[in-house]
Amino acid sequence: MNPGSAPVFTVLVLGGTSEARALAARLAGRPGLRVVSSLAGRVSNPSLPAGEVRVGGFGGAAGLAAYARAEGVGAVVDATHPFAETISAHAVEACAVAGLPLLRLARPGWTPGEGDDWHGAGSLDEAAALLPRLGTRVFLTTGRQGLASFAPVDLWFLIRCVDPPSGPLPARHEVLLARGPYYRGAERALMARFAIDVLVTKNSGGPLTAGKLDAARDLQIPVVMVSRPAAAATESVTAVGGAVRWVENHIARPGRP
Ligand code: NAP
Repeated sequence: MNPGSAPVFTVLVLGGTSEARALAARLAGRPGLRVVSSLAGRVSNPSLPAGEVRVGGFGGAAGLAAYARAEGVGAVVDATHPFAETISAHAVEACAVAGLPLLRLARPGWTPGEGDDWHGAGSLDEAAALLPRLGTRVFLTTGRQGLASFAPVDLWFLIRCVDPPSGPLPARHEVLLARGPYYRGAERALMARFAIDVLVTKNSGGPLTAGKLDAARDLQIPVVMVSRPAAAATESVTAVGGAVRWVENHIARPGRP
């Protein structure tokens, strides 16, 4: 710190989502505030947030607490994906150990509307078990992880993910590598081209990937909706603006729990 300059408050944003990038963009560059975004390093060529970026796991909750101490972190915003439950649990544990305030920023989940034919599943395994009675040509959009749940299912799958999947896959499939956002018309055309008759998705929420749900409704295709894991036990907001205000409050009153 330069003599006479204001102390710097460091906020750690656990990221990997569009909300995390939006939060970093709104906070980075403010005087007296250092914004460090953390990415798991799962995706090749990720969209990088504004401000500082670090990449890779911390080595569990203890590693995260040690990192926060070493970097002089004053507050943590967990803006990871709603299904990234391990890092969220680690954030709760690490912040308790390090005595740091923690906010969970998670967009609201999707809810069914008129004309939707949704079938709830509590896990990817449950989703896989539901499929044989719902369709024969599956559009699988649950991401690269956990695809082994679908490996034993004897149906045809269109598997869409950002990077190539590894591990066991269903015998009959095609992989489509793509990165959102995805829009209704293009999603409808894709589903029609592959004669899709059932869609599987996690309840990620948000507008950027909701086009598939509109398309499924248009085409009267059932949707297997995998519900979210239990929310992390900490204060939470659903919008970036709420997280910005929370950080501002902590800059104004550092050390507030
Ligand atoms: P996860 O299962 O909750 O985390 C597994 C491990 O990855 C964590 O224990 C941690 O390793 C590391 N990790 C996860 N997020 C991290 C972050 N932001 N910074 C540093 N390390 C992180 O997470 P995941 O489901 O694999 O998701 C990984 C990332 O992809 C997250 O940042 C998430 O926002 C994003 N993402 C996930 C999904 C999804 O459906 N799960 C979808 C889109 C984006 P250590 O224990 O070594 O610290």
